[in-house]
Amino acid sequence: MVTTRLPLIAGNWKMNLDHLQAIAFVQKLSWTLDEARHDRSASEVAVFPPFTDLRSVQTLVDAEKFSIAYGAQDLSAHDAGAFTGEISGAFLASLGCTYVLVGHSERRQYHGETDEVLGAKVGAALRYGIVPVLCVGETAADLEEFGASAVPVAQLKATLAGISPDADIVIAYEPVWAIGSGKAATEEQAEQVCAALRHTLSEIVDADFASRTRILYGGSVKSGNIASFMRQPNIDGALVGGASLEVAEFASIVRFYKHVI
Ligand code: PEP
Repeated sequence: MVTTRLPLIAGNWKMNLDHLQAIAFVQKLSWTLDEARHDRSASEVAVFPPFTDLRSVQTLVDAEKFSIAYGAQDLSAHDAGAFTGEISGAFLASLGCTYVLVGHSERRQYHGETDEVLGAKVGAALRYGIVPVLCVGETAADLEEFGASAVPVAQLKATLAGISPDADIVIAYEPVWAIGSGKAATEEQAEQVCAALRHTLSEIVDADFASRTRILYGGSVKSGNIASFMRQPNIDGALVGGASLEVAEFASIVRFYKHVI
């Protein structure tokens, strides 16, 4: 099948770069991609700065008309009210966020986010026209006990139960043991799990939804290994952590099509 899914290369900055550093970074990223004559029809680029950077990134991207999308790293399941410290999808939408990460493994691990909460967060993002990037993935212990696909597939089923076939979402398969470890999954394993996730989407929603939804791989992606992932038929891009904090390295990942033969 010829895929028409536009690859997405997404940079998760985590708790790095303040708003001044964010402005310098996004400026430099855009110049670097322009200088390299980045083909915007070959891959879409998105950055996920901390909440406090988003207004600065919005102002810069709007003023300079940069072709760089951006999103937040989390959102509240609620729309408004007495939820101290939480950020509403409404606020993210008014800051021009195209995307929002939902269920990154660090949120699941350090903030106890369950599939039920994450399902509500996916719903909140969709209510405000923001594309949720839903992260799923197995720990090293899960991998040993259940194999690679079982936990990510179960997370997907639990989180997306009842989702509308018209919803626009992105899935990121991120094996927890590969995040920040320098030990990426093999392209075979990543492809096997992404194929299982796509199959699951066709079961819980429908075939059209499964074939148009982008599924990213994440976990120690670098410019040196991105091509091997992008050659896989069910991998439509990457969620990049550490390597997204260096402009030249991230720009090279965005231009993965230069290394894919
Ligand atoms: C991540 O945090 O989503 C991630 C994939 O990190 P890294 O690329 O550093 O492994």
